[in-house]
Amino acid sequence: MQDETKLQQVTSKFAVGVTRQIKSSLDKPGIAKQFVPTEQELISKPSELHDPIGDHTYSPIKGIIHRYPDRCLLHPVKVCAVYCRFCFRRETVGKQNTSLTADELENCYEYIRNHPEIWEVILSGGDPLVLSPAKLQQIISKLDQIEHVAVIRLHTRVPIVDSKRINLDLLAVLKQRKPVYMALHMNHPDEFTEPAIAAISQLADAGVVLIGQTVLLRGVNDSTEILGKLFRKMVQHRIKPYYLHHLDRAEGTSHFRTSIETGQKIMAELRGSYSGLCLPEYVLDIPGGAGKSPIGPCYLSKKSSIYEVTNYQGKQFTYNDSD
Ligand code: SF4
Repeated sequence: MQDETKLQQVTSKFAVGVTRQIKSSLDKPGIAKQFVPTEQELISKPSELHDPIGDHTYSPIKGIIHRYPDRCLLHPVKVCAVYCRFCFRRETVGKQNTSLTADELENCYEYIRNHPEIWEVILSGGDPLVLSPAKLQQIISKLDQIEHVAVIRLHTRVPIVDSKRINLDLLAVLKQRKPVYMALHMNHPDEFTEPAIAAISQLADAGVVLIGQTVLLRGVNDSTEILGKLFRKMVQHRIKPYYLHHLDRAEGTSHFRTSIETGQKIMAELRGSYSGLCLPEYVLDIPGGAGKSPIGPCYLSKKSSIYEVTNYQGKQFTYNDSD
């Protein structure tokens, strides 16, 4: 039984919200734990950060995060269809007046135009698919007109949590001149509900390239069996598992955090038993903003020109690289 007063403190500190579709699945623990607030969110650890991946440091203007040379994030809205209890941007999403005005959006396009090294623009969280198809059309066609932007990527939960939004109007918007990639945030196989599967299928049929991003969460998916099932379902439904994120150190999320050792063990077990198509890269966003690094198990060590390489069964072999 949760303490009502403490829960109120949680809801006044962090955004809370689910769609009708998710509400009807809250009897499934793998879904409920991701969206139902608990008083554990009031526990703050010294290592937790207000801005865990250093977005602020890499934001040259409002709405843009430019951390890596060839790509930047554009945040047209800071609103989501659902609010994940472990969100790495929980200090900024779901607050009032954080969406970009028309002028601010123009500034963002201008920034991108003035940076020819930007090859990819990522529309990200908040969730860009909460925008109307007409608004999204405006943004995507502006990006489409910038010669050096070759790829547009959207990061979203909407097809899974509010699947009816994937309609013909939206699909028409996504069929632009430039390739559109969509990263679907999914953490548990139970998220493959009938409406979600239908939405995924429509997107894939429309030519949107689907990739999956998953957060490793204690008590939700920290087992080889659950993640293996999730990644297989993704591949069966034309989503390539892309990243398994080690949980960022956002405030009040320690109850979801696993150790890196746990994540590596799961990745090693997955490699032994599941098709390579089902294997995402296990990554850590270095706290403070230094970027993502792969942190999966290492299969290679070196002694002079001889390598020792471990196979999927844990057996070791030598490989001479000097010939
Ligand atoms: S959808 Fe993404 S940005 Fe929105 S609450 Fe969930 S993790 Fe955060």
